[in-house]
Amino acid sequence: MRALVLKSSSSAESANRVAFRQDYPIPVPPAGESLVRVRMAGICGTDLEMVQGYMDFSGVLGHEFVGEVVQTANRALAGRRVVGEINAACGRCEWCQAEMGRHCPNRTVLGILGRDGAFAEYLCLPDANLIPVSDKLPDEAAVFAEPLAAGFEILEQTRIAPADRIAILGDGRLGAIIALALKARGLKPVIGGHHDEKLQRLHEMGIAGQDESTLEPGFDIVVDCTGSAQGLSRALELVRPRGRLVLKTTVAGSAGINLAPVVINEIEIIGSRCGRMLPALRALETGLVDPQPLVCAVFPLTEAEVALGRASDRSVFKVLLKAF
Ligand SMILES: [Zn+2]
Ligand SMILES: [Zn+2]
Repeated sequence: MRALVLKSSSSAESANRVAFRQDYPIPVPPAGESLVRVRMAGICGTDLEMVQGYMDFSGVLGHEFVGEVVQTANRALAGRRVVGEINAACGRCEWCQAEMGRHCPNRTVLGILGRDGAFAEYLCLPDANLIPVSDKLPDEAAVFAEPLAAGFEILEQTRIAPADRIAILGDGRLGAIIALALKARGLKPVIGGHHDEKLQRLHEMGIAGQDESTLEPGFDIVVDCTGSAQGLSRALELVRPRGRLVLKTTVAGSAGINLAPVVINEIEIIGSRCGRMLPALRALETGLVDPQPLVCAVFPLTEAEVALGRASDRSVFKVLLKAF
């Protein structure tokens, strides 16, 4: 099958770590898993960081997808269009028993850790991870279920009141989808960014945004989506004493940052990763969240390398791959 494959950082120079292949073997689903034919996949910042060496992953990249179940022992899934929870947990450990499989120490993660991902014609996931999608929801929206779930995750981790002042640092695809998630729950975040055309697009989607340098300190909650070490320092300047700082980006380089303000101002730092897929999918299906204006380009899978390059352009939001 066709697939965009990443080689381990120990085995290749970063310039030629990514290769598009025509001859990658179609995965064979083990018991309890299904084979999914990928329809559409989304490129996210994590994919770009992984090309730079984050997670030292080797295999097929990609974890945001919508596809069709083409081989399964599970009748409820056969032939269905699905999205998928990306963390495949062991189901036996204490984390799994406590329904926190996303933290299972034995987990594999689609396109990120020990499991081939979605920038390919086919992928495998456990049946329990697959969620059927309503026929009415277009692929271009369903493919956002995973990043939207990561946005809603913040609201599962910390209570945010309607009057809380919230800043999201970073006007990229992640900041935008988090803003949509918070807006869907009646909150009014302001995005601090650096790109006029993206801030304008967000404005058209009903999301307040301004140049990051013009934000004034005093926010109750600051969500860092900058993907840069400087972003974290800036977030610490903007959050009020006893405020909360939500870290949403994993940066390939280490930050080297002065944490004294965290102590002096008694800042609560919340690390935040993936969230539950079902509420995100329902928000898309009901139209509570429409992320489609964030789609800047759709490339065929065969042009996956070009698409990755386009996605690393700071002026674009979402770049999608169409597998068939
Ligand atoms: Zn992602
Ligand atoms: Zn487990």
